[in-house]
Amino acid sequence: MSHQDYRGSPSGQDPGPSRRPDDRADRLPGIAYDSVPDSLKDSVIEPGDPTYPQVKSTFFRGGAPGIVFQAKNTGQVVEATAFARSHAHVPLGIRSGGHGIRGRSTNDGGIVIDLSRMAKIEVLDRSSRLVRVEPGARWMHVAAALAPLGWAVSSGDSGAVGVGGLATAGGIGLLGRAHGLTIDHLRAVELVLGDGAVVRASDRERADLFWAMRGAGSQFGIATSFEFQAAEVRNVGWAQMVFDAADIAGLLETWGAIVERSPRDLTSFLILNPPRAGQPAIAFVMTMIDSDDPKTIEDRLAPIVNMAPMLDQRVEIASYASILSNAHAGQNTGVGEPVSRSGSVEHISPEFASAAARLLRSGVTYFFQIRSMGGAIADIPVEATAFGSRSANFEVTAGGTSRQRLDDGWDTMQRFFRGLYLSFDTDPRPERLQSAFPPATLERLRALKLRYDPGNLFGDDLFLEPRRPPR
Ligand SMILES: Cc1cc2nc3c(=O)[nH]c(=O)nc-3n(C[C@H](O)[C@H](O)[C@H](O)COP(=O)(O)OP(=O)(O)OC[C@H]3O[C@@H](n4cnc5c(N)ncnc54)[C@H](O)[C@@H]3O)c2cc1C
Repeated sequence: MSHQDYRGSPSGQDPGPSRRPDDRADRLPGIAYDSVPDSLKDSVIEPGDPTYPQVKSTFFRGGAPGIVFQAKNTGQVVEATAFARSHAHVPLGIRSGGHGIRGRSTNDGGIVIDLSRMAKIEVLDRSSRLVRVEPGARWMHVAAALAPLGWAVSSGDSGAVGVGGLATAGGIGLLGRAHGLTIDHLRAVELVLGDGAVVRASDRERADLFWAMRGAGSQFGIATSFEFQAAEVRNVGWAQMVFDAADIAGLLETWGAIVERSPRDLTSFLILNPPRAGQPAIAFVMTMIDSDDPKTIEDRLAPIVNMAPMLDQRVEIASYASILSNAHAGQNTGVGEPVSRSGSVEHISPEFASAAARLLRSGVTYFFQIRSMGGAIADIPVEATAFGSRSANFEVTAGGTSRQRLDDGWDTMQRFFRGLYLSFDTDPRPERLQSAFPPATLERLRALKLRYDPGNLFGDDLFLEPRRPPR
């Protein structure tokens, strides 16, 4: 059994919390600091501690929690959960990698249970490629640990994203069409429920909970380890191309049609920068081909290369791990509230492409991305997991600076959307839940919430209230 231990602290070291006695002046009201049990004391970071600035915010959102527990093991997660239970009057954030775009893994004046020190990655069984990963590991570390074995777990496009947040929500990544979502490779989860019970969920144990953990996991407990079945992935083709997108709608439509026609070993993501100061819009297209054969890679890329005037390109054959080493798992320094919206579309129709072009030209979005889905993602029936939109061929995300302006623009495009990916959507209106999950999924989630988290301890991330199904 191989075993590697990666730590999530920004410096790569693990100094552990430290505190001066006079720092207590910075303590916030509402937290019973003196009731922290001895067994948790070495995990506590509170306002005024030297390491507090490193843990108060997430990647995108600023925060000022009253207390952060950096748990070292499942036992400390159980203890921290009990502390949170006795503090129902303050928000509770669960944090793994701190890259949640919704930003709910920090808060103001509440509790954060931070799992960044639980970051082990180990192979459980070579013959079935079963690996156990703790939630605080980052996807770049998972990729690096599995690369020497010729394996990979389909993850997101940024290596700095944490395992915990992505593997409970979905995981739409660069191997998506070839290998499916991250949750499709999940075989079991260990989690701490709101009442402190440590349980295992898989197809054979608490299958209903396992279903819910794959798409809406943040609502049911704190995942302390995941078992994934890795796929055999050799080197992959990796293309980064930049296009003149003066004809925004035309380029979107052409790219969408090419991707839908392409074999499933191809997954492509497109980012559009809006036109600025007389310059045309620019499209960045990142394409992964799950093949190390140069001819296959060339064939797959040929239609993309010719879709618009190309400004720059780089094509390589590289390991998945080297591509995921694209980010830095450093200190999270987000400020303010992130503003983003998501929608799933079946096809890039001319009408959708024109509406997207209008949105970009209006200036309400500085970041507009379309990810291809379909392929292996659509092989799994939608009712098999709690992930909302399996039939969509594309996931569309827009980031903005004004909540109101982005919402106004995005809401006019609702007719195109058949679902959304909550990880990319920060709209605080509760009705987003209906957009994210089909009615049957939502009803089942509410009933399971009543069973596994009736007090809604883990309610801060979504708006999923516990509810009995209608008769
Ligand atoms: C730069 C960047 C690139 C991204 N790329 C992709 C991508 O390619 N594909 C994709 O699908 N997503 C992507 N995302 C979105 C990302 O997957 C989600 O936001 C995910 O939640 C982040 O996980 P985390 O552990 O880093 O975040 P955190 O902020 O630590 O957690 C986010 C939320 O997840 C829940 N959570 C975290 N840990 C646990 C746990 N152990 N148990 C239960 N619930 C938990 C909590 O509710 C928390 O609020 C990206 C985000 C960023 C910032």
